[in-house]
Amino acid sequence: MSDLLALYQEVILDHNKRPRNFGELATADHRAEGNNPLCGDQLTVELTLDAGRIVDVKFRGQGCAISTASASLMTEAIKGKKLDEADALFEGFHEMLTGDPSVPAEAAPGLGKLVVFAGVREFPIRVKCATLPWHTLRAALRGSGDAVTTE
Ligand code: ZN
Repeated sequence: MSDLLALYQEVILDHNKRPRNFGELATADHRAEGNNPLCGDQLTVELTLDAGRIVDVKFRGQGCAISTASASLMTEAIKGKKLDEADALFEGFHEMLTGDPSVPAEAAPGLGKLVVFAGVREFPIRVKCATLPWHTLRAALRGSGDAVTTE
C-alpha cells in the first residue's frame, strides 16, 4: 500500500471512530433519511439553512466505516457553504467515485479532504456507502421528506 493510501485509510478510520457533527440538530429545518440496504447503512441528515447557506448540519444513524466516515467528512465539508457550493462538492465527489478511473483522484479540484475516498471507486458496492450521505443531503435540501434508498 502506498503511503498516500495508508494516510487516506487512517483519516477514514479516524472519522469512523470519532464522527464529527454526530447527533441530533435541535434547530434543523431540513431533514432526510437514507438507507443502503445492500450494506445495512442507515442515517439521518439534518440541516439548518439561512439565506441559502448551510449554517449547521448533523447526522446520526448506523452504518459501516465508509458510510460513517463519509457522512462525517461531508458535514465538515459543507458546513458554512452556500447550497450551490455544496452541490458542486457532491458533483465532484460523485465524479471521483464513478467517473473515468484513469483520471487520478488527486486531480479532482476543490474536494479537499474528500479525496480520501478515492480508493473506494475500486469497490463498486462501497461506492454506495460513500455516496449515501450525499444523496441523503440532497433529499434533505430538496425537502421532499421521502426516505432515500440506494436501491
Ligand atoms: Zn456501508
